[in-house]
Amino acid sequence: MPAPQSDARRAALVKGASKARVKALIDLSACTGCEVCIAVCPVPQCIEKFGDEEPAAKGVYVNYDICIGCQLCAKDCPWDTIRMVPTVTVAGDQTSLDSQLNHEHAVFQKPELVPEEIRGFVNRTPKNDPAVLGLFGKQNPVVPGLMSPK
Ligand code: SF4
Ligand code: SF4
Repeated sequence: MPAPQSDARRAALVKGASKARVKALIDLSACTGCEVCIAVCPVPQCIEKFGDEEPAAKGVYVNYDICIGCQLCAKDCPWDTIRMVPTVTVAGDQTSLDSQLNHEHAVFQKPELVPEEIRGFVNRTPKNDPAVLGLFGKQNPVVPGLMSPK
């Protein structure tokens, strides 16, 4: 568990991240919760894990206010589930949970899996921005029981 950020440190991160032209969008329907993205992200607590040991009920999300758009997570995700999307396409979204292309993941039936302050996705509809959908078009499919990293 990383050390909590000071208010000053977080404010500096938010200021830097506000200039990012792209943000990391994690597709929960294909995320295995392996935490590689958390290990490579240079911004503490930018990507956070949630859920329990049940594979279908765990995943990670990106805090958009501090994502600097460095792309390291997208390059290193073994399951090819992250795309860098134009910041404008996720404007108004607090986390990548708000930007999901579908609501098939367990978190949308059990929002209590994540902290209350980031449950802005409750009662929202999935994203259908063609620009975002196009970026995910060549994503590696994850076949239950027959998963293989990229
Ligand atoms: S590296 Fe990819 S599969 Fe692993 S937790 Fe991150 S987004 Fe999910
Ligand atoms: S793009 Fe960079 S800052 Fe943003 S979540 Fe990925 S690794 Fe972290």
